[in-house]
Amino acid sequence: MRTSIATVCLSGTLEEKLRAAARAGFNGVEIFEQDLVVSPDSPETIAELARELGISLDLYQPFRDLEGVEEAQFEKNLKRAESKFQLMARLGIDTMLLCSNVGTATIADDGVVVEQLRRLGDLADRYRVNIAYEALAWGRFVSEYDYAWDLVKAADHPRIGTCLDSFHILSRNTDLARITEIPGDKIFFLQLADAPALTMDVLSWSRHHRVFPGEGAWDLSDFLTRIAATGYSGPVSLEVFNDSFRQGDTNRTAVDGLRSLRWLEASIADAPAAGTAGEAQPEVPSSALDLQPLPEVEEPRGINYVELSTNDLGALTRQMHQLGFQFIGYHRSKPHVQLWLRGKARIIVSEVTEEAGTTSAPVNGTFLRGIGFEVTDSQSAMERAALLLAEEVPRDQTHNDEVLRGVFAPDGSEVFFHQFNQTTPAWIKEFGHDHDEQVSHIDHVNLAQPSNHYDEAVLFYTSLLALHAQSSQDVPSPSGLVRSQVMSSTDGSVRMPLNVSPQPNAEAVAGRGIGSVVEAYPEHVAVACEDIFEAAATALSRGLDFLPVPQNYYEDLASRFDLDPEFLQQLQENHVLYDRDEHGEFLHFYTSTIGSVFFEMIERRGDYLGFGAPDAPVRLAAQHRKNAQHSA
Ligand code: MG
Ligand code: MG
Repeated sequence: MRTSIATVCLSGTLEEKLRAAARAGFNGVEIFEQDLVVSPDSPETIAELARELGISLDLYQPFRDLEGVEEAQFEKNLKRAESKFQLMARLGIDTMLLCSNVGTATIADDGVVVEQLRRLGDLADRYRVNIAYEALAWGRFVSEYDYAWDLVKAADHPRIGTCLDSFHILSRNTDLARITEIPGDKIFFLQLADAPALTMDVLSWSRHHRVFPGEGAWDLSDFLTRIAATGYSGPVSLEVFNDSFRQGDTNRTAVDGLRSLRWLEASIADAPAAGTAGEAQPEVPSSALDLQPLPEVEEPRGINYVELSTNDLGALTRQMHQLGFQFIGYHRSKPHVQLWLRGKARIIVSEVTEEAGTTSAPVNGTFLRGIGFEVTDSQSAMERAALLLAEEVPRDQTHNDEVLRGVFAPDGSEVFFHQFNQTTPAWIKEFGHDHDEQVSHIDHVNLAQPSNHYDEAVLFYTSLLALHAQSSQDVPSPSGLVRSQVMSSTDGSVRMPLNVSPQPNAEAVAGRGIGSVVEAYPEHVAVACEDIFEAAATALSRGLDFLPVPQNYYEDLASRFDLDPEFLQQLQENHVLYDRDEHGEFLHFYTSTIGSVFFEMIERRGDYLGFGAPDAPVRLAAQHRKNAQHSA
């Protein structure tokens, strides 16, 4: 599949945008007029740079407000178009995007519009330029793709085709059935964008909230499948107007964009007619778009381990002991690395000191360094991750250690692909020991996300690990709303709430723990146990610093649920919070925070699948009070 990206998606100068697109691996770019106008480089220099970088210049855009106007105005518009054709010749671009008229159209007469398109086609033919006519969702008279296609068809001019843009089509909820009526060679250009489901005016939605495929609410696989069925063979281009992408790191956004296209491409290469159930299945002529699959990955089967990094080993391991974890041993070849177990909940603690010689890791704080996911084929998961442009974690490994490979997630944490099998993982022997009688496992891991990499994170976990994004929730905290988005596997064996912190946050995420969001919004590991009161009693007897829960909470609990007073008292005495839904009950307590990490001990009763959402604001407020005490 030929990939392209509109320069408007990226931050930086035109030169930086071209370099970032080429470096990520795009085949081409769309030149957005504004980027050229403000560039000090001549069109010839830009064309030369693109040649050097090995990328094509696929489209010049946008040309606005041409059709549906009086003759005198139309002649002026043609002159304007001609000057752009001359410019395009200097750039070596052969296709121009023509947006349906939003500003100056006064004539809603198809005959007039068709005739004007034809005359533009005649002029374009002299410059060997193709015109891709696109219905903007807010066009004055033409706002639907099938109407634009009807006009193009009627114009019947070899230089006039249509441009399909998923945003303009999906935002209007237009019936997609007519896409396959369009011959592939009359689709002169294809633009893709996803978007979150928002209720707002479509122009603002488009200009500020577009995201890359897989980061929003739409089914782009279905959309592209329909396009493929037409026989379209041109570039598949990203046109995404997004406020945070335009402020973000240029190279990073380009990688995020190409990852979205590779993932999308593979999603239909693997399942040729997905998403169109109920209708005649359009044939996907695999030759036209040349769709490449990716090594397949199944949903992860569980969390094998969580790795915490700390420079406060005493405090962290004391807390783990209080929670019933057992120290198992030191890694046989890495003396600064310890294993702690509570049943199947495995925590690797790596002490970060100057002596440990861990060069790249930050030496401050306690933070969540990585997660080992159990996958059915660790090798293909790693190959897939590499093709999705994830950066591999460098790892020092002695020859007889189990080979573990992983990549960096957008928040800087490490994701390791661990071969799933039913038995105790072999790597545990590297710590000299492997048994624990307790029934316990890691229930979920709560990760803080910098807001500017939030969309990237959703795509990352979707495309690399086949996790699913649940609907997001806003949780009130004393310092602002925390956006919470759960990524999970279908059976719930992997659950990861991603939390977008309200605090502004710099780009300093590459080194975890360095003044990044993890300082502002702590992350936590939730451990499931069989008996929350037994766990609380052990923790109490070992002196755990519980996160305090206010009396008001228990009074409110009594009013929300019909609870036995003795049970309520038991909850309160043990600092245990409580939630219930139609499926079951949820009992949990929190520890105080060490560095950027705290623990949650939970007991699920019945089929309760949530995370105690009503209790999250209580926790956030308690943590806020603790922080305030510390800094006072
Ligand atoms: Mg467009
Ligand atoms: Mg939790």
